[in-house]
Amino acid sequence: MDNNLLLSQYKLTTFLACQRRFQLRYLRRLPWPARPLPERTEQLLQQGQDFHQLLERHFLGLSITPATIPDQRVRQWWQSFQTHNPVQNLPDNIRLLPETGLTVPLGNHLLYGRFDLLVIGQDENSQPFAHIFDWKTGRPATVDELNARWQTRLYLALLAEGGSAFWPKDVQLQPEQISLTYWYVQDAETPVTIGYSAAAHQANWIELQQIATQLDDAFAADIWPLTDDWSQCRECAYQVYCGRQGAGTAPSASSTALSSSGRAVPELDEHDETEEPAPPDEQLLTPDLP
Ligand code: SF4
Repeated sequence: MDNNLLLSQYKLTTFLACQRRFQLRYLRRLPWPARPLPERTEQLLQQGQDFHQLLERHFLGLSITPATIPDQRVRQWWQSFQTHNPVQNLPDNIRLLPETGLTVPLGNHLLYGRFDLLVIGQDENSQPFAHIFDWKTGRPATVDELNARWQTRLYLALLAEGGSAFWPKDVQLQPEQISLTYWYVQDAETPVTIGYSAAAHQANWIELQQIATQLDDAFAADIWPLTDDWSQCRECAYQVYCGRQGAGTAPSASSTALSSSGRAVPELDEHDETEEPAPPDEQLLTPDLP
């Protein structure tokens, strides 16, 4: 078994939620038979993907003609984005890097993240800065929720550890020069920007290292315990493997949310895990530029 993993936010979250699920899903690679989604949910997922692709094209410099966007909801999101575009008031001489990945080492493993949009450049004091933008089409989360998310912590840590790779060798990107903005289509006027600091990075990185050590210990003992939190089992496809059918199947708050119309909608805008690249050596600390 390969004990050196490419760790994304999904794998980290899964390992922390349930080590047995992590083993079944990522090590034994048992199929993850998703329950059939309602047609409405499938449509919302597709709209979320289409919106991300639209913004990728926009930030690659391609022109977008609203009339050619076939889906009315996506067209409305695009118009909202144009009105409330959070990528503004940035210094000159920036680079816009949509759908950019970054990989850095973590113990025996690699950490990986892919940003919807990474903006890099120099601020008014000629210091390098990096600003991640993440587009969300699901339910807006609170600042506390966003701060606690592994997506936030992983993205900021990745740039603090490996972001200097976007500049010439003698340039160092400091944690204080890194930020992350979440922009929700349902709360377009109030993007949430989260900053970073050396102290926050130190604490964040120590915790990531501790998780890597836990992972190594689990590999060494080949023990992958079932979670004590049965609520995790309610949305898990491996209930039968674990004898946890009694947990029920109601969707949890983490996988669904209420839209402004009161409908339950999934987190629409997360990339499919299958898009993670294989970790070739040369990708280490190397930006995966579009
Ligand atoms: S059913 Fe529960 S214990 Fe089993 S893998 Fe899923 S979350 Fe873990």
